[in-house]
Amino acid sequence: GSRTRLDRFLSQQLGISRKATRPLLAAGRVWLDGEPVSDRQRVVTPFSRVNVDGRLLQQRERRYLMLNKPAGVVSATRDDRHPTVMDLLDEPAADLHLPGRLDYHTTGLLLLTNDGDWSRRLSDPREGVSKRYRVWLEKPLTQADVQMFADGIHFPYENITTRPAQLQITAECEALVVLCEGRYHQIKRMFGRCGNRVVGLERLAIGGLWLDPQLARGESRALTAQEVQAVF
Ligand code: URA
Repeated sequence: GSRTRLDRFLSQQLGISRKATRPLLAAGRVWLDGEPVSDRQRVVTPFSRVNVDGRLLQQRERRYLMLNKPAGVVSATRDDRHPTVMDLLDEPAADLHLPGRLDYHTTGLLLLTNDGDWSRRLSDPREGVSKRYRVWLEKPLTQADVQMFADGIHFPYENITTRPAQLQITAECEALVVLCEGRYHQIKRMFGRCGNRVVGLERLAIGGLWLDPQLARGESRALTAQEVQAVF
């Protein structure tokens, strides 16, 4: 199910012509998300609540999950060779997708949802949603690394320069990194350019949504309504 116009939706659901939906709309018999509507061009999503004479026509439940991803599973809904994050869910569902991936060895906060609008917004570069990581390195970190992250690093292959990123050194070989984008292997490649190597990577937060510390690796749970909002 995808987005459609209200008159088309009513016509499909009620088995009447689109023209025949007009008197229903004009008479105030149709409600959308708790309000009477007369505009037949209003957009209906799979999650809209549409009532006619008080009867609910269709409602799909929105699902939002956080998973504490362990190493050694693929961030995809299917893979021919390795277990995927779907194999870890209590109730895997065909309509779930990933609004952002983590590499095979990366651990931590991973989201799953069936709400395409929410994931599009999450991935929209204009939103600039931050992603916070803890990183373990092979060699000691330096102030020059902090400066390189802040200045941006040019990747010739894609011909892009990374956006200013925060690098906070928390121990000799350990740091926190905040990115506002998600390029392919971005953190590993950035440290590679600093002459270092990532030996461990965990995502801690996406926007204001933090990985639940109670959640063991491999476990998942539904997001609260506040958490769904907190990413933006
Ligand atoms: N950067 C990486 O290199 N890998 C990830 O999984 C996430 C960010």
